[in-house]
Amino acid sequence: MTSRCRLFRIVSGLVFASVALLAAEGRQTENVILVTADGLRWQEVFRGIDPALMNAKEAGMDEAGALRDKLWAESAAERRRLLMPFFWSEIAPHGVLLGNRDLGSSVRVTNGYRVSYPGYSEILTGRAQDAAIRGNDPIQNPTETVLEFLRRKWQLRREQVALFGSWDVFQQIGEHQPGSVLINAGFRALEEPGLSPRLRELSRMQFELLTPWPSVRHDYVTFEMALEYLKTARPRVLYVALGETDDWAHERRYDRTLETATYFDQCVRRLWEAAQSLPEYRGKTTLLATTDHGRGGTLDDWPSHGTKVEGAEFIWMAAIGPDTPAGGEIRSQQDHYQRDVAATMLELGGVDPGGYEGIQGKPIRLVVKP
Ligand SMILES: [Zn+2]
Repeated sequence: MTSRCRLFRIVSGLVFASVALLAAEGRQTENVILVTADGLRWQEVFRGIDPALMNAKEAGMDEAGALRDKLWAESAAERRRLLMPFFWSEIAPHGVLLGNRDLGSSVRVTNGYRVSYPGYSEILTGRAQDAAIRGNDPIQNPTETVLEFLRRKWQLRREQVALFGSWDVFQQIGEHQPGSVLINAGFRALEEPGLSPRLRELSRMQFELLTPWPSVRHDYVTFEMALEYLKTARPRVLYVALGETDDWAHERRYDRTLETATYFDQCVRRLWEAAQSLPEYRGKTTLLATTDHGRGGTLDDWPSHGTKVEGAEFIWMAAIGPDTPAGGEIRSQQDHYQRDVAATMLELGGVDPGGYEGIQGKPIRLVVKP
């Protein structure tokens, strides 16, 4: 190499490094809030109440006239606004919504199973791990999750990265190294030093407010704990994993599925409003929302999902925050994937996703301002 060439390399290297630094410095995201609604279909998010299900006795709608009246409108645009008002009045105008198949936008699960653990793990590790994670057995996540990776990169204490989940298997999904982040999921007491009276009360209450499902507690408990934790402990990374949208669908209770979808929308609104009211979060927090899998699209198969259910690979994603453009509902023909969530989260947080070993997903450019 000639010295002139070497000089050029050094100069161009410096330019490259400073551009990279500027890009990271240009980001405003200092906190990330991730929220998921288990198995909430893209059909409800983008079309509202489903005309094929809303009158069906076998979908539990025989006594749900009042709910049907409340959510029904001629156009899908009006129906979805009635079902999920925060998504359509706040996220759509100020953020990005991906996955409306009616507009050609697709977000797809890449793991082969289309059930919960593989889906959540794909979200949290940016990859499908089909050989190791074959279903919902509670095995410890074989890979460092993005929660753990972000904790390392942002140099946070354990309690600054928190996961509250309704489903108990999040104890295993959320981290590779047990105890590296704060996880409270399923019917489990929250035991941390210095908890507020509200958190102690919620922790106690969960064992008295039983659900029909031994492994899933009420979303109310999970959400209220997460919100109170946000207000009192000010975590930098918060993951809230709600579950009832899936469980009521398995029970063939479309009425409750719709009500919990609206509850999820309300939870996202309350998290966002809480973040905007606190100096640690205002203007420097990105909120991402998505789901672990889709489900069937007909009266026959809407309650289920999995490899054999057609369309269960299609999901949706929403983002709002200081580094996300007001892109609204995306019409792109470009495919996006569930594994892209982790890379997008890192990119927003100014962390190079390339440093997260084994990651397969890519940052979604539509969600990150150039
Ligand atoms: Zn399910």
